[in-house]
Amino acid sequence: MSKEYRGVWVFIEQNEGEIEGVSLELLGAGRKLADKLSVSLCGVLLGKDVKALCNQVISYGADKVYVIDHPVLEEYRTESYMKGVVLLAEKYSPEIFLYGATPNGKDLASAVATDLSTGLTADTTMLDVDLDKRLLEASRPAFGGNIMATILCKKHRPQMATVRPKVMKALERDKERQGVIIEENIELYEDDMRTKVLKVVKDVTKRANLADAHIIVCGGKGLGDQQNFSLIYELAEVIGASVGGTRDVVEAGWLPHELQIGQTGETVTPKIYFAVGISGAIQHVVGMKNSEIIIAINKDASAPIFDIATYGIVGDALDILPKLIQQFKEIRT
Ligand code: FAD
Repeated sequence: MSKEYRGVWVFIEQNEGEIEGVSLELLGAGRKLADKLSVSLCGVLLGKDVKALCNQVISYGADKVYVIDHPVLEEYRTESYMKGVVLLAEKYSPEIFLYGATPNGKDLASAVATDLSTGLTADTTMLDVDLDKRLLEASRPAFGGNIMATILCKKHRPQMATVRPKVMKALERDKERQGVIIEENIELYEDDMRTKVLKVVKDVTKRANLADAHIIVCGGKGLGDQQNFSLIYELAEVIGASVGGTRDVVEAGWLPHELQIGQTGETVTPKIYFAVGISGAIQHVVGMKNSEIIIAINKDASAPIFDIATYGIVGDALDILPKLIQQFKEIRT
């Protein structure tokens, strides 16, 4: 590497003028990395009529925002967005560049990594830096989730990673925070674009409900059978919670896949997470460990779920759940 690469960058994904939550979370994570490396944290914002969003990016922790505002960037397309991001990266040479692991974020990051001939760690769940070597340590579950692998990009820059939504925490918004906005121009022509967006169809599935839930009652294989699993729905109903399950429960056919929480399901960060009859396998834990309060119910006192639980109840869920439901009903009335 002959050039000097400096700074931590976050791709700010926006849809119809609204910034995706994961981009704000990445500004929080990026802030820590930038402070450790004593460099600036920069947001990269592309779109049409998006300049007004720059202050929001600064208020969530960025020192600078690079913005390209262009009519051809109205809808996300790999070709146009990649051109814009590569133009900025080649001009300003960041050392670290983070993207949300959303469908568009993953698509863009892989195209940019290919164009810049650099490495990309996908679906990261932990980020840190080795200060001496200025290396990004991007960790993610590997080999079927049995180990956490820390991946380094030693020889190429920028070091890039996509990060799952809801894994990192956004900073509190500081509306007084000051930063620098740098506008860049790009030559893009609609006629040159190989893909055209004909229609945007919104995804209106239940998945978003689970990801945004404040309280989740999640049931595991320890419930024994589908009939007992109805206690999970009953508790959720009484306390106004959403229902989730482990992969084993989904595979048993007690719940649809969109309610699975974990590595191959949803990542959730509710205020309260009930883990009932769940062992606490790493593949489950990566999807819920950032919940504010975790209440675990398991009859095995040595179950790994108790290692991350805020409160633990050792006992038979089939005895405990009816009592909890009764108590909450009494409180409610
Ligand atoms: P178990 O591990 O069988 O645990 C049941 C628990 O219930 C035990 O701890 C037991 O002590 C307790 N118990 C039993 N009876 C009672 C009772 N009466 N009262 C109270 N407690 C009781 N898993 C996920 O959840 N989400 C994922 O996204 C996911 N992705 C995966 C991806 C890969 C590539 C792989 C290999 C695995 C994945 N898994 C995932 C599966 C994961 O490894 C575990 O197998 C799974 O999470 C275990 O589910 P469980 O806790 O419901 O069941």
